[in-house]
Amino acid sequence: MSKLTIRDLKLKDKKLLIRVDFNVPFKDGQISDDNRIIQALPTIMYALKKRAKVILLSHLGRVKTEEDLAKNSLAPVAKRLEELLGKPVVFIPETRGPKLEAAINNLKAGEILMIENTRFEDLDGNKESKNNPELGKYWASLGDLFVNDAFGTAHRAHASNVGIASNIGGAAAGFLLEKEIKFIGEAVDNPKRPFVAILGGAKVSDKIGVIENLLKTADHILIGGGMAYTFVKAQGNDVGLSLVEDDKLDLAKDLLEKAKGKIILGTDVYTAKEFSNDSEKNLRDYTNIPADEMGLDVGPKTLELFKKYLKDAKTVVWNGPLGVFEFPNFANGTVEIAKFLSTLTDATTVVGGGDSAAAVIENGLEKGFTHISTGGGASLEYLEGKKLPGIECVNDK
Ligand code: ADP
Ligand code: MG
Repeated sequence: MSKLTIRDLKLKDKKLLIRVDFNVPFKDGQISDDNRIIQALPTIMYALKKRAKVILLSHLGRVKTEEDLAKNSLAPVAKRLEELLGKPVVFIPETRGPKLEAAINNLKAGEILMIENTRFEDLDGNKESKNNPELGKYWASLGDLFVNDAFGTAHRAHASNVGIASNIGGAAAGFLLEKEIKFIGEAVDNPKRPFVAILGGAKVSDKIGVIENLLKTADHILIGGGMAYTFVKAQGNDVGLSLVEDDKLDLAKDLLEKAKGKIILGTDVYTAKEFSNDSEKNLRDYTNIPADEMGLDVGPKTLELFKKYLKDAKTVVWNGPLGVFEFPNFANGTVEIAKFLSTLTDATTVVGGGDSAAAVIENGLEKGFTHISTGGGASLEYLEGKKLPGIECVNDK
């Protein structure tokens, strides 16, 4: 790729600001998924090995009220990082001020420090999220060099990415950002063919931009999940109680027409009378869904059809589960596709989207994929072909 990366920087003895995405989920006060921390380790470990003085910045959740401050401290994340790195991480519970500055000045080569949640600055006028010029300038003044490795925030122009970059002479990409650009960017811009996209999830409206953009480059787009029913209905079928966006029927018709056969809907579906794991499961054809049933998972013939398109693919991008995978009885389509993709050793397989990534990880299949994106919203916008500010602010080589 043509972007400057951390490999191109002279790091020794430099104060290196790294924007990471440590916006991890918590459950009962504990980090419930540390994937984002793990994905940032290569960049952090490289910088430490090259004897930089590493200063980490990240956001965590949203900060609107005083109560959010206690809930969204990065202190437990610093602790987890310390365990993963096996070395001390100096945590400064502040986002600015003399204490932070002194700690940075005391930092030695090969040591690492983390500042408090960048969005603590949002409490007073959304300074972080609105890319307040004074804040970006201040954070830039704390370091010599800047690496952006936060793909999950790359669709936003915030003080801690774009703000720092524009005050410190730009940015270099960390290894994770580089990977996201390489695998998502290349899949969309310059895919090895056949390029097959699989789209699912709840709503068509979330993914219109993705479908339109992928129609330009993909050879086939396989559609399952809740969003399929708007298309099935647009073809003139009755879909019973299935999820449908009636205001998107015309658009779905248009897309089907524009696609000239590129969009592949399935043929069969598992339905139930209620939106519940324990509701009795029936196998129906898409053209024959009873009025009092809803489609909750793709059927076996649909899976066979999808696999036929996938087996010779050289690039696969998957976004969105093929059914209500939170219900074990309706998770089969999602799990089967995840398993099948993990066996495709000749293809570049990329998962973008929070829930589809979770399905892959929950089933222990992540090793079988080329790349699992760390960005939900960011990967969607990237798949839409949009320019992401957090990538645009990285210097070209
Ligand atoms: P991703 O996060 O991977 O982009 P989405 O957020 O778009 O995926 O969609 C995930 C949600 O879609 C899941 O909560 C899942 O239950 C829901 N879903 C999938 N299929 C159906 C369906 N047939 N009916 C209702 N909801 C569905
Ligand atoms: Mg989601």
